[in-house]
Amino acid sequence: MSSAPEPSPVPIETEPESPLDKNGIGGQPRGLTTLFMTEMWERFSYYGMRALLILFMTKAAVDGGLGFETKKAAGIYGTYTMSVYLLSILGGFIADNFIGARRAVLIGGIVIACGHYAMAFSSVTTFYAGLVLIAIGTGLLKPNISTMVGSLYAPGDARRDAGFSIFYMGINLGAFLSPLVTGWLAQSAAWKAQLAAWGLDPMHSWHWGFAAAGVGMTLGLIAYVLQRERLAQVGHAPAAHLARPWGKLGLVALASFALIIVMKLSDEYHALVYALFALQIAAVLFFAFRPDQESKRVAAILIFFFAAEIFWAIFEQTGSTISLFADQLTQNEVLGHAFPSSWWQSVNSVWVILLAPVFAFLWIKLGARQPSSPLKFTLGLLFVALSFVLMVPAAKLTAAGKIGPLWLVGLFFLQTVGELCLSPVGLSTMTKLAPPRLLGLVMGIWFLAAALGNKLAGVLAGDFKSENAGELATFFWHQALGVGVATLVLFALVPWTKKLMCGVK
Ligand code: GLN
Repeated sequence: MSSAPEPSPVPIETEPESPLDKNGIGGQPRGLTTLFMTEMWERFSYYGMRALLILFMTKAAVDGGLGFETKKAAGIYGTYTMSVYLLSILGGFIADNFIGARRAVLIGGIVIACGHYAMAFSSVTTFYAGLVLIAIGTGLLKPNISTMVGSLYAPGDARRDAGFSIFYMGINLGAFLSPLVTGWLAQSAAWKAQLAAWGLDPMHSWHWGFAAAGVGMTLGLIAYVLQRERLAQVGHAPAAHLARPWGKLGLVALASFALIIVMKLSDEYHALVYALFALQIAAVLFFAFRPDQESKRVAAILIFFFAAEIFWAIFEQTGSTISLFADQLTQNEVLGHAFPSSWWQSVNSVWVILLAPVFAFLWIKLGARQPSSPLKFTLGLLFVALSFVLMVPAAKLTAAGKIGPLWLVGLFFLQTVGELCLSPVGLSTMTKLAPPRLLGLVMGIWFLAAALGNKLAGVLAGDFKSENAGELATFFWHQALGVGVATLVLFALVPWTKKLMCGVK
């Protein structure tokens, strides 16, 4: 897409702002408020829709759903959530080299909103069109809004980490609120009765939920446009005189779509997944045994990549396996009040909001004695494995009927502890290990780990069956065991990984 970027590398702005602007939330730059609000609403739309996605696909037509088999639905879930993260690489590339982060976020937000509104219609075509639009739009928005947060700060500005923590709160505030809204619209008897009273079809309640996600993204866009001047000099397009790398754009686009197709094919040909794992191990070994420091650090990045991929493969089943478990096998009641099963999707965010400050305090308190990043990654894997160990007795108990809600509260607690050990640490470790000229690529690799993990989460969820408690317990146990082995391997590799990091902490 052609654009009208600034004529010189020095951005021209009507309201030049000092990098030490402290007029935003908590003494932060004012632009953080804009990005916080926009990302909060974008995540509201993403998680609000995701909370309904697998339920809508698997519910029978008489309940307003698409009536897909679990395996098919989980495959679509995995391919969709993978694409969202995979297209971040392309979205980041387009912003960096063509249109700038600021415009990429705007266009991405518009495309996302269109995607959610498409899903508000009751047709299979608009359903798929919606998924494609949301994946493309998120690819444009998600990486670039994070980059803009980073650009609000001059190098060495001590407020940067706190800024990112506030931003992560925005993400989770949106992710917490949205299932409450979309889930109520899609699943509650009260809203269905209201629709019927208006002479509308209550079976279409799911589409009201999807529309609400679109309204969320629209509010985010309004906030973004109204508050755009707060962003000052951040996120402009590269100078007009710089060459636009069209050839590379073609390559990145082609590689992204090719990978999506290969991973889609892995639904039928599982050997492709094993081949991908083998390729990753070969790449680690190839770089680790090269003599130069840069290659060794790349090997360390690839070990983290591997761990992150496995972590997300379990963690991202929240929207598939756990969503189905919550719907079919859990008593969704507090103090005698029933609630929609999709409300469970808010619980991870509640734990993040409660625990993130505890972790920040812990790391500061431990200072130099805090675990190394390879050890934090190991802890991330350990906790996510434990979360599925907890599901083994929970699954067994379903033989006698629906189980109490505390099991899932516990599951989300363990997963969130794991997330806070791995996710924020991962991002900063990547930036420290990456050779400066490959920073963008390494960020892309981090998103790729999330992408492949999400796909794997779909593949694994394909075997979820609620009818047989024993089989269900085995389903969780096998996965816990697999991640348990990966945890041990990663733990054994901690000293070697540290050595490969060549001094980076
Ligand atoms: N929950 C976080 C977000 O939505 C991280 C998700 C991920 O990286 N897979 O931004």
